[in-house]
Amino acid sequence: MTAQEVRYWDEPLECMPRPQLEQYQLAKLRDQLGYIREHSPFYRRKFDSAHVVPGDIRSLDAVRQIPFTEKDELRQSQAASPPWGDFGCIAPREAVRVFQTSGTTGRPVRVMLSGKDWFETYYQQFSHFRCGFGLSAADVLFVPFNYGLYVAWWGFQAAMEQAGLMVIPGGGLSSKDRLRAMLEWEATAICGTPSYLLYLAETARKSGVDLPGSPIRKVIAAGEPGAGIPSTKKAIESQWGAECFDDIGSTEISNFGYECIMHQGTHVIEGMFLAEVMDPETLEPLPDGQIGELVLTNLCCSSMPLVRYRTHDLVRFDRAVCSCGRTYLRLDGGVLGRSDDMFHFAGVNIFPAQIQKLLHEINEFSQEYQLVVPRLGSGKHLRIRVEPANENVPESRLKAARDHLVEIVKYRVTVTPDVEICEAGSLPRVEGKAKRVVRED
Ligand SMILES: [Zn+2]
Repeated sequence: MTAQEVRYWDEPLECMPRPQLEQYQLAKLRDQLGYIREHSPFYRRKFDSAHVVPGDIRSLDAVRQIPFTEKDELRQSQAASPPWGDFGCIAPREAVRVFQTSGTTGRPVRVMLSGKDWFETYYQQFSHFRCGFGLSAADVLFVPFNYGLYVAWWGFQAAMEQAGLMVIPGGGLSSKDRLRAMLEWEATAICGTPSYLLYLAETARKSGVDLPGSPIRKVIAAGEPGAGIPSTKKAIESQWGAECFDDIGSTEISNFGYECIMHQGTHVIEGMFLAEVMDPETLEPLPDGQIGELVLTNLCCSSMPLVRYRTHDLVRFDRAVCSCGRTYLRLDGGVLGRSDDMFHFAGVNIFPAQIQKLLHEINEFSQEYQLVVPRLGSGKHLRIRVEPANENVPESRLKAARDHLVEIVKYRVTVTPDVEICEAGSLPRVEGKAKRVVRED
């Protein structure tokens, strides 16, 4: 890949030394909390119950006095006073665009955006993304997405048009037709979920389409942790013959994370968000480098801004300056998993994603695994069930790989596991979310 030039959207802010950046965030936070208290009945109750007066917030740490916001609270607020609830700061007549969450884990949450948020705030967020990804007005973006109430690529598409890229809307087409359109119109960039991008690559292979030989040079992946998982990313990059970038956001909190061309983790737009990382069990803040749950506060959105929103995404902060020059913190490896999957064992918080990552470094084993958690007080070890990558891996190599896995888990997770090697192909395969953790009675 040829050397690329680093592009910034707002260089002074993105490269601001940390002490100044934190001062900038503090000023934004105080203004934002004051605005929210005035306009959102939901947050007024929250702040009052914790005796928080926005004007008294004098450090970023002081934000911890404010209780977290959970997605369930947003659902309850909208169920109690439909359709919008009382957490937003604008009247429905001020909104120009509405979205709702997919609702896979419960009642969908509805979000409305004012013209200011849709045309300016989102544009600012996606301009950070665009510059980070190294996209320019010369790029042609193909968006294979069925437009509806789900936010997905709506905002990205609109912002790319505003920035002068040519955008090809690929809704309402079959995957084959999408591939055809993408090639005919000479798209240079495409976006999608990691699994759809891999599916599209497979469809291309089956139909004899040479993707690596196509003009596509950048692939933007969002919606699932995946672009951050090295093996998934490698698969996307080799099958597309293009550079893959991680993009993170959600309907509720908006768009906060993008990977730059240096690929050293996923930057958080700290000029627009306050990010915290905490232990999902104790709810206490964690030092950088430790895996915990990402908590975000909108410093810029004014329609339905959220304060200390629990994303339930597991991340690891790295605040060292990136090779791109940005001081914006990076999520090392992107989103590593969901805090709901976390379990406590032998005095340690364990995340399946941690073990998965270690497992992916060992070629002798397949990507499938299960963690068997023994009953508390049974004295048994945590058991990791793995299986050989295929039937031809010799016994001696499997044993060496097993010993290696025990050692690295002991060292990195600080728990000594038993490793059980099952028959190749015997662990359950599921299409959706795999059940990795099995609890013994
Ligand atoms: Zn960077």
